[in-house]
This record gives sequence, structure tokens and C-alpha cells, in this order.
Amino acid sequence: MSQSRHEERQQRLKDKVDARIEAAQIERGILIIFTGNGKGKTTAAFGTVCRAIGHGKKAGVIQFIKGSWDNGERELLEPQGVPFYVMSTGFTWETQNKETDTLACLETWQHAKQLLSDPQYDLVVLDELTYMVSYHYLDLNEVTQALQSRPENQSVIITGRACHRFLLELADTVTEMRPIKHAFDAGIKAQKGIDW
Ligand code: ATP
Ligand code: MG
Repeated sequence: MSQSRHEERQQRLKDKVDARIEAAQIERGILIIFTGNGKGKTTAAFGTVCRAIGHGKKAGVIQFIKGSWDNGERELLEPQGVPFYVMSTGFTWETQNKETDTLACLETWQHAKQLLSDPQYDLVVLDELTYMVSYHYLDLNEVTQALQSRPENQSVIITGRACHRFLLELADTVTEMRPIKHAFDAGIKAQKGIDW
């Protein structure tokens, strides 16, 4: 391709992008969902927390699973003024007790609701919330209501597999992590600093 044709094509592309940038005028917080079976949902949420606090914004994290694991992100971010509320049961796939898990979930949800009603928070992460809805520990209406009545400029990130379609519909940005390969399938152990 000649230089002038290349330039022409780049200019057309730039015009299109500029028009889309011009068209996007709404300013408000958004609901982001990272779902799917591939690795990267929780790390993407924490990547966004780093961005937010790097710009001096306020973020809070609620984790609906993994109560008994140590957690690299928490070690780093809590001293930076990011509050963490982690469901305290040590809930795992093997030991599910519906009654105690529901209680733990509802207790954790109270913290979530608090952040979702506090305009000081620019970003709220609800890590692994999807399971709470699919196991019926948490009422879907209660979740949608809290999301819809949150402060206008507050953004929220929900992570977890198999997200309910109502939440997907409510979201502004949805990304599905699709596994192409995972080291675990080749027998490689989960690693501190990579997997948690
Ligand atoms: P990460 O926390 O690494 O971003 P994730 O949030 O996308 O992962 P989860 O479904 O929350 O994934 O799973 C939590 C743990 O399982 C993490 O340690 C992650 O590395 C691991 N994991 C994620 N996807 C897979 C997979 N497809 N196969 C095996 N292990 C996985
Ligand atoms: Mg996760």
C-alpha cells in the first residue's frame, strides 16, 4: 500500500474514532461485570481498584468467598485506605452448609449495602457476588434495588462465574473471560502471588 493510501485510511479511522468520542457525552458511574470460566475476573477488578485509588478516588471491596484464604490484594490495598469485608465462613466448594452460608452472606451483604449507599465511594467491588445469587443466599431483587439506587457517580464491579441474566442486562460493561488454557489443567499448582 502506498504511503498516501495508508494515510487516507488512517485518517478515515481517526474520523470514526473521533466521532464516537464526540458522541459519548454521558457522565455517570457504571456497572461492570467480569464473568465466565477463564482466569482474570478478580484480578481485573483489583486492577481497576488500583487505577481508581491511583487517581485519588475512594474504593471499597466486598468479597463473598475465600474467607479463609490469605489475600495479596488485601495486604497491599487495605493500608492504602481501601476497606475490605470478606465473608468469614471459609466457604468452599466442599463444605456448603446452606444455613450458615446464608447467614454469613447476608451479614456481608449489609456491608455491601452500606458502601452502595455511600457517595464517598467512587468504586465498589463485589467480588464473587454471582454465586450468592445463583445459590439463592441473596435475593436478586434486593441486589438490583441496591445497585439501581446507588449514588449516580459510583461505579460497581461484580465478578464471578454464571452471572444471572438480569444482572447482565442491568450492567453497562460485561466481559466474559473465556478459558483457552489454564495451567491447573496441566497439573500445575495454584501459586501465591499469581492465583491469590
Ligand atoms: P483470578 O482471581 O486469578 O483473577 P478469577 O477470579 O477469574 O481468577 P475464580 O473463578 O474466582 O477466577 O477462581 C479463583 C481461583 O481459581 C484463582 O486462583 C484462579 O487462578 C483459579 N482459576 C480461575 N480460572 C480457572 C480455570 N479455568 N481453571 C482452574 N483454575 C482457575
Ligand atoms: Mg475470582
